[in-house]
Amino acid sequence: MVKITRVEKSKLPEIDFNSIDFGKYISDHMFVSQYKNGQWSEGEVVPFGAIDISPAALALHYGQSVFEGMKAFKTTDGKVNVFRTNKHIERLNKSLDRMCMTALPEELFHNAIRTFIDVEKEWIPNAEQGSYYLRPFVFASESRYGVKVSEEFLFIIFGGPVGPYFPKPLNVKVETKYSRAAQGGTGAAKCAGNYGASFYPTRMAQKEGFDAIIWTDGSTHDYIEESGTMNLMFVKDSVIITPELTDSILPGITRDSLITMSKDLGIKVEERKVSVSEIAEGLENGSITEAFGTGTAAVVAPIQKISIHGGSYTLPSITEKSVQNILKNALHQLRTNGEKDAFGWNNFQ
Ligand SMILES: *Cc1c(COP(=O)(O)O)cnc(C)c1O
Repeated sequence: MVKITRVEKSKLPEIDFNSIDFGKYISDHMFVSQYKNGQWSEGEVVPFGAIDISPAALALHYGQSVFEGMKAFKTTDGKVNVFRTNKHIERLNKSLDRMCMTALPEELFHNAIRTFIDVEKEWIPNAEQGSYYLRPFVFASESRYGVKVSEEFLFIIFGGPVGPYFPKPLNVKVETKYSRAAQGGTGAAKCAGNYGASFYPTRMAQKEGFDAIIWTDGSTHDYIEESGTMNLMFVKDSVIITPELTDSILPGITRDSLITMSKDLGIKVEERKVSVSEIAEGLENGSITEAFGTGTAAVVAPIQKISIHGGSYTLPSITEKSVQNILKNALHQLRTNGEKDAFGWNNFQ
């Protein structure tokens, strides 16, 4: 049994569920479990708040810190479900392994999510208003300053309600100088350091007026990898093309879901190498009609303009019939209409 200590006074009445900015609100509680002396504690749900950590906590110095981002939904008939929990714990454990951090027992993770979401269920917006974003993460908490692999960790989950994402089409730049991830590096792990390293090139691109970067492979910069927090898909001659997964691309669960759903909807998908020149040519001759990012936060984020080696290309406006809208709507239906889950991805409470 996970021990639960509830807040005395909920912050819920302060929130206007009809206008929730992404990342603005954190709900009342958090789940905390500790790994010490070779064992994960059962964990407990406590009021969200500051935690005590040593200034010598190894995560702060040597970067052992990984996270997940996942969502819970309310269906149109009022049920609560968490999307693809299995896939998230699988990826979290892969990230932990890559960073020499102790795996989380799946049972602990499932139980933590279930208990936490049950405590916070009033915080989940209904299907039209949005969803509840969950942030599970693990970091090295051992207090030692010699360079070493930590033997103590904290596993925490918190989250908050997020509104529907109203896409402002992005203006992006294909980055061919800086790299997000090297071959053989940590690009496929959802580790904190990947983000720290990506901020500088992103800031440079923003100074030039771009919203985000499209990363290319670190060795030749000839192949498209992904965007800031999203995987990438293009529609070329009505076929979705998306970079195949490598050790420098984060294996997105939205990416996986949309690929699976596309095949089911009769939309062809090619997972393969996608070169910068193929994209430039396709934009030039009009065979590429859509470009979009995919990720848990935005689900689908349309790209309007792409800059490649200084040349700028504008994509056609998206319509209700655009592939990205068909996919986005289908995924929304699957998660918020209990009867449409053909793949067993919803974990009902
Ligand atoms: C989390 C993340 C994604 C998207 O993954 P989802 O599982 O779809 O949310 C893509 N790229 C990077 C770098 C990420 O951190």
